[in-house]
Amino acid sequence: MKIAVLPGDGIGPEIVAQAVRVLNALGQKFDLEEAPVGGAAYDVAGHPLPPATLELAKKADAILFGAVGDWKYDALARELRPEQAILGLRKHLELFANFRPAICYPELTAASSLKPEIIGGLDILIVRELNGDIYFGQPRGIRTSELPLFKGAREGFDTMHYSEPEVERIGHVAFEAARKRGKKICSVDKANVLESSQLWREVMIRISQEYPDVELSHMYVDNAAMQLVKAPKAFDVVVTGNLFGDILSDEAAMLTGSIGMLPSASLDKNNKGLYEPSHGSAPDIAGKGIANPLATILSAAMMLRYSLGMPAEADRIEKAVQKVLAQGLRTADIYTEGTQKVSTVQMGDAVVAALS
Ligand code: NAD
Repeated sequence: MKIAVLPGDGIGPEIVAQAVRVLNALGQKFDLEEAPVGGAAYDVAGHPLPPATLELAKKADAILFGAVGDWKYDALARELRPEQAILGLRKHLELFANFRPAICYPELTAASSLKPEIIGGLDILIVRELNGDIYFGQPRGIRTSELPLFKGAREGFDTMHYSEPEVERIGHVAFEAARKRGKKICSVDKANVLESSQLWREVMIRISQEYPDVELSHMYVDNAAMQLVKAPKAFDVVVTGNLFGDILSDEAAMLTGSIGMLPSASLDKNNKGLYEPSHGSAPDIAGKGIANPLATILSAAMMLRYSLGMPAEADRIEKAVQKVLAQGLRTADIYTEGTQKVSTVQMGDAVVAALS
């Protein structure tokens, strides 16, 4: 099985190296091929997603991605910025379904800003549509306003839209995921105000008839933002559009208090996927050997489960991570008094050891 390994920038190479060690320690044959992406690719090839990297990503069965971005590229034109690589991969590979689990491990309850009884044992999944919505809607731009009150002033505008097939395909992915979990799905929209949300809700209700074993509920996005803080454990699977999902998935990740722990997957219609930690390239700590590699290691586990059909190996990795947490090992971002602070490589060592 071919895996494209794209470490990227900042802490990307440090954390991906640990995930690769863990994969190699499983005793399976993987064909791992590495290529530059993001700022690292711009430095060597003049583009954040060079043709050779895109080709490798296209022919691989799955992609293990670190992170891209660094402040030193801030002055580049938008199309050459490192972050364009991830947008380009999503577009070219038609990765439309983003899975962002938010899990609070019992050992890390203290890292959350919420009370232990509210957050302890949290295990929810946010399924975000990734290819549509206001981020890609046309027309968009900056023009001269025709509004009577502001006539002649400059105005920025974007277009929010969702077509029925787009809602259907993300809906089916989310219902299938709910079927494998707690069989509850909450569709988040803003149907009281937005036409695109009214259509979204109508389609979700229609396709729910194909999943009688899954309970569907609806929530407006403002209420969902509140309920995630008030009673996050009431959710199982949340399905939502690109804009709302962007915000809610970050909120859910931060609830757990440890962004360095959270994996993510972006899948196409055949379950080929790009797997990456939920966090960015953390340039502030790059090269210091203190980054938490567990989100990337857990992303590799998701890759085994969703794209490579190896759920037993995925379980092994997840159990190994739980074991090192139970042993009290912590990187700096999740360190609390009474635990043992370890480096990025030491955390990788511990997970590899726990596998056996
Ligand atoms: P960030 O997620 O990189 O960092 C936020 C904070 O969390 C920092 O203090 C950082 O040190 C810490 N952190 C993140 N990951 C960690 C880990 N594994 N272990 C320990 N601490 C960790 O977000 P940011 O600072 O807003 O962005 C930095 C760069 O990352 C920017 O260039 C941004 O565009 C990029 N970014 C990339 C992606 C991606 O590649 N998919 C996603 C988000 C941000």
